[in-house]
Amino acid sequence: MILGTAGHIDHGKTTLVRALTGVDTDRLPEEKARGISIELGYAYIDVPRHEERLGIIDVPGHEKLVHTMLAGASGIDFALLLVAADDGVMPQTREHLAVLSLLGLKRGAVAITKIDRAEPGRVEALQSEVRELLAGTSLDEAPILAVSALTGQGMQALRELLFEAARQTLPRVTQNLAARLAVDRTFSLDGVGTVVTGTLHAGEIAVGDELLIHGQRARVRSLHAQNRAVDRAQAGQRCAVALAGLAREQVPRGQWLTAPAVALSTERFDARLTLWPGEARPMRSGARVHLHLGAQSVTASIAVLDGCDAVEPGASARVQLLCHMPVGAWRGDRLVLRDVSATRTLAGGVVLDPFAPARYRRTPERLAELAACELPTPVERRERLLALSSLGLDLARFAQAEGLVEPLDGWALGNEARAALTEKMLAVLSDFHARSPDELGPDAARLRRLVAPRIAEPLWRQLLAELRAADRIAVRGAFVHLPEHGVQLSAAEQRIAQKVSPRLVAAGAEGAWARDLARDCTEPEPLMRATLARLAQQGELHQVVKDLYCDTSTMARLAAIARALGGGQGMVTAAAFRDATGLGRKRAIQHLEYFDRVGLLRRVGDEHRLRADSALFSEATN
Ligand code: GDP
Ligand code: MG
Repeated sequence: MILGTAGHIDHGKTTLVRALTGVDTDRLPEEKARGISIELGYAYIDVPRHEERLGIIDVPGHEKLVHTMLAGASGIDFALLLVAADDGVMPQTREHLAVLSLLGLKRGAVAITKIDRAEPGRVEALQSEVRELLAGTSLDEAPILAVSALTGQGMQALRELLFEAARQTLPRVTQNLAARLAVDRTFSLDGVGTVVTGTLHAGEIAVGDELLIHGQRARVRSLHAQNRAVDRAQAGQRCAVALAGLAREQVPRGQWLTAPAVALSTERFDARLTLWPGEARPMRSGARVHLHLGAQSVTASIAVLDGCDAVEPGASARVQLLCHMPVGAWRGDRLVLRDVSATRTLAGGVVLDPFAPARYRRTPERLAELAACELPTPVERRERLLALSSLGLDLARFAQAEGLVEPLDGWALGNEARAALTEKMLAVLSDFHARSPDELGPDAARLRRLVAPRIAEPLWRQLLAELRAADRIAVRGAFVHLPEHGVQLSAAEQRIAQKVSPRLVAAGAEGAWARDLARDCTEPEPLMRATLARLAQQGELHQVVKDLYCDTSTMARLAAIARALGGGQGMVTAAAFRDATGLGRKRAIQHLEYFDRVGLLRRVGDEHRLRADSALFSEATN
């Protein structure tokens, strides 16, 4: 269990932690000199009759350091709110309580401290004042104890209460969740290197793991959990992770250390927000705020998605947060908002979707997706999102948003969406054939624009492949058509097709020009040009660049070479394709560009990436 202290400055937090653990968490010279906590402090104690140690995060109480308190409080299991008997309830007593409540923290206790300095009557009055303060917050039912760290009065009862809470802490669910640790401190150690510390919010970390931080890979060289050297750490533990291969300057505080598969950074995410009931005014769209999430804090602005552009005090609504710096945010993560001058805590919330759209963000469809994000389990969320998405669900992205370790891959399409898309595709093809009976059909890229321009490429190709396997459509070269549709060649076309066929076969990958074919076949050049273009539309041959043609078996062979080259890394370079085909550089590039155009390859910089699941040009090879 991780316990976090909370409370106004000078109310005895650090002293109490020292009395409990023997550790002075004010270790900086400046902290000693000024007698106040500036950084987060950490201490651990063994819990009798319990395996796991109790970890304590001691936070600063200063009003200017609420962001540090927040970095410590995110990820704790149990809050200990301190109120000094002589001072009573003060501004940061209230603010820290608001923070804990907005973080949704339900487990905690209040300690009235320094009771050696107050009359018993005063302590009792303060207890009932605190009880009232807690009403309506997440710590509504928290026990209130009275202690003095100086005389030791009440300390044994407090110790027992904390030990019992530690024993009752259930291990956090780690199943299926990838490692995510919010880094609240970084330092370097002689002989060890860069060390980051923080709360492991989810998953497990083991020595030897490859993790990502701030976009950089690092290997776990050694590991401490709750201040003990271990081989493996679990969610809910405070960890110190020694990272091989990184300098301390490369890992700014506030970053997430995560399993590579779920690493993400976003500037725009959707969340459910609850405005603090004590706020005087509603929060409106356009409001600028400080966002605190994990150990990070950044400025952000708000767009209210529900209702009338404002959230009333005590009310909750869905909002979009536009951050001025990228943050790590996963579904279900807790957040707190403070005002832009960092003097007041305003609201708390839960991340719904880290990949929020900039447009169409308030449509009924989108709001239904956000409602799906609030269902209780990942499986329910996935099923609902799948049913809602007319254009399919990106499973890898879903797993990333959820922080799931499960290797989900590819796209999923709900049954209704699949049926609707299939119906539309068949209707479009049928219509196309009716209008252009002389053409074999649209090419796959054009068909996509006609059927579902916004569908993701991989899903589109998956759908084509499925329908082709089921014989509902046919693919020839780059063209898609209904199986029953064929093209009758006219007599002239048949004559010319027969004449050019051996010449194209002889020309091979080099191809033949319309003008040369006209001359060799003794046909008028304009007729030859027009006929070749029509034959290409019918899938009888391929127009690589204007007026340059290849026959279908040659193109299938070239496509197979491109497939083989692109197989491993998925990349085809002009040089490799040239060498494999024996073509000149110019022609090789023309072929690659043709393949880009029809959707077998996709140009990426100077290279061409194979669309691995493309069904095009595969009819000759299977
Ligand atoms: P923090 O800012 O909440 O961490 O407060 P500290 O632990 O630094 O304590 C502030 C001051 O209160 C210090 O001078 C402590 O010695 C004093 N103090 C803390 N606890 C007690 C207590 O139980 N009794 C008395 N008399 N003084 C205390
Ligand atoms: Mg302190």
